[in-house]
Amino acid sequence: MSEWIYADHAATTRVSDRALEAMMPFLREEYANPSAVYAPGRRVRRALDRARETVAAAFGAQPGEIYFTGGGTESDNWVIRAAAELQGGEKKRLITSAVEHHAILRTFETMRRRGYEAKVLGVDRNGRISLEALRAAAGKDAALVSVMTANNEVGTVMPVAEIGAAAHDSGAVFHTDAVQAAGHIPIDVDRMGIDMMSFSGHKFGGPKGVGGLFVRKGLPIPPGLFGGGQERGLRSGTENVAGIVGMAAALEESCRNMRENAEKASRLRDRLIRGVLRIPGTRLTGDPENRLPGHASFLFDGVEGEALVLLLDQNGICASSGSACSAGALEPSHVLLAMGFSAEEARGSLRLTLGPDNTDAEIDALLEKLPNIIVRLRSGA
Ligand SMILES: *Cc1c(COP(=O)(O)O)cnc(C)c1O
Repeated sequence: MSEWIYADHAATTRVSDRALEAMMPFLREEYANPSAVYAPGRRVRRALDRARETVAAAFGAQPGEIYFTGGGTESDNWVIRAAAELQGGEKKRLITSAVEHHAILRTFETMRRRGYEAKVLGVDRNGRISLEALRAAAGKDAALVSVMTANNEVGTVMPVAEIGAAAHDSGAVFHTDAVQAAGHIPIDVDRMGIDMMSFSGHKFGGPKGVGGLFVRKGLPIPPGLFGGGQERGLRSGTENVAGIVGMAAALEESCRNMRENAEKASRLRDRLIRGVLRIPGTRLTGDPENRLPGHASFLFDGVEGEALVLLLDQNGICASSGSACSAGALEPSHVLLAMGFSAEEARGSLRLTLGPDNTDAEIDALLEKLPNIIVRLRSGA
């Protein structure tokens, strides 16, 4: 056991040893620009090609359908703006869910200001959208439906294949933010009817600042960045070669060990959930069945989530309350509010997210410390 317990894998993950090893040559001797015509450049280009093949294979996609970006936020921003421009920008209706990451929601707000009909669907108590509500909102002429594969705050996994089918019935293209899901649960873009998909390296053992966008062949989306024409003209900028190679290695490793990792993570998660729910005044948030393997999230009555996270930190435990992006801001989580919890209830939220490095001994330590911390916070001490 390390001297601290890391239970915040939904915020970011450690770069896996394999990913780091794969990256090293491209930070040292193989530094040539992959666009260069000389031999070292061509070698780097081949490494990029292989990474693209690896990433595509992980999702059942073709290499030509993968565009590397600077991470999940960039992919989400690009795809929403791009999808609105598909079909000549004729169709003005864009649909998303109220529990998306801010990378989606804030982009939707800018689209609304530009005159698009940007609709945000509510969710049920478990954080899932209703397919009937989606069909009603989309009508027959929506441009885009964007619903995340799995939620970062409460771990709920959405019925993606059904959402994809409903999106297509309405004439829309379907995008999913799969940043939390990629490398953790199976994704097949064909079987799930996904037209576009965002993913990010640092959520599955790759480095930070690198991610990608899957765009189904034949969808003529406009460029995300203009410049030297890299990524088949759609995302210019000299490629983050080491990052891309590291991400591909991490994704391949995560997919190869997916079943084993998920079994271990969900076993630890279920132990954690059972133990935490023994603390009085505690509720599980998110879907009890359809949830990410390592994801546990709770509400504690009469506890301030921020204070809880600080006290856990003093006890050597890394956890978060709501999403890391809104940490520091004391606003209640938009996800929990959308799920029907009051602002008061939502304040007492805690997210514990596990990964392949976590151990039974760490769960024991968590379950030993947490009840006392909760008692202390409730007594106002
Ligand atoms: C982390 C996350 C993002 C942002 O990804 P970055 O690579 O950190 O920009 C987007 N969506 C979801 C669901 C996330 O969990």
